[in-house]
Amino acid sequence: MYACSPTWEANWISETDLYQLLFALAGRIVPSPWGRDRVSLSHGLHFTGGEPFLNFPLLLSATQMAEELGIPSTFVETNCSWCVNDETTRERLEQLRRAGLKGIMISVNPFYVEYIPFQRTERCIRVSQEVFGPNVMIYQMEFYRQFKQLGLQGRVPFEHYLALAATAGGHVAVEMFLMGRAARALKPYYRSYPASAFFGEPCQPPFLRDWHNHFDNYGNFMPGFCGGISLGSWRELDCLTKEGIDLSERPVLRNLIGEDIRTFLEFASDYGYRESSEGYISKCDLCLDIRCHLVEKSNFPELSPRTFYEQLASHKDSEPGHQQRGETE
Ligand code: SF4
Repeated sequence: MYACSPTWEANWISETDLYQLLFALAGRIVPSPWGRDRVSLSHGLHFTGGEPFLNFPLLLSATQMAEELGIPSTFVETNCSWCVNDETTRERLEQLRRAGLKGIMISVNPFYVEYIPFQRTERCIRVSQEVFGPNVMIYQMEFYRQFKQLGLQGRVPFEHYLALAATAGGHVAVEMFLMGRAARALKPYYRSYPASAFFGEPCQPPFLRDWHNHFDNYGNFMPGFCGGISLGSWRELDCLTKEGIDLSERPVLRNLIGEDIRTFLEFASDYGYRESSEGYISKCDLCLDIRCHLVEKSNFPELSPRTFYEQLASHKDSEPGHQQRGETE
């Protein structure tokens, strides 16, 4: 969704910015329905990336700050790449728990297992359950169960996974956000439609919402899962939430907030955008294609961070299905 990649420069958020952001968010964070010390996917506050464990000291500081500020239901998302042995895994998780972190979300899907040996994911789940008890979320559990059933070991190329899953009786039915890099990388596996097929379709989940938004290291207040779009600077969060967003100089945002892809398409056609003859696999695929075009044509501050679009453009060759890996741990 966010075009994350090892080739994206590690522009970590500074501790000063981090404190400023957490200070601004404290008091606005809704705890898990099960309580402040419990976690759930779209409640509380989570640290993510990229991969937050790549900068463990920063993750630890972030946890301490959030705890001092009384932010409830904190958790971290991880790809488990760092879980190379039980000792390191337990030591880091214990440090975070002692600093106030309430739980963890562990990513499990065919796109991670292309890069992360499955044993590391299993280790992370096992040790996390010992450290955080019930506050361990596996996203997505359906994939975890399937991988266990298939007996996956090591890293598994995407094509190999597809073949294995087909032999074992089909694929799991899970929510899949066909947006960001996924919209491009998964195009061969989905049916494409003309742009008109998405006219009138609302954004799912809604574009503007008061739950599960993201705040990045570049200062962007991002609407939910929409990588490459900025509602404004989180440095002006008070102003944004009290006075609203000034759309007079943000025409792209004005179109997106309306959730009407037809008017966005018409807007973009004035900048020379032409509908792709290949079609689109989702409304987000169309939206992204238009935005990639607009980024080239003019400077729209709401299409940020710019690096998101540069990463998308430079990653065609490393998309799932284009590489053969598969070595074991
Ligand atoms: S269509 Fe665009 S604005 Fe709407 S959810 Fe998808 S990426 Fe976000």
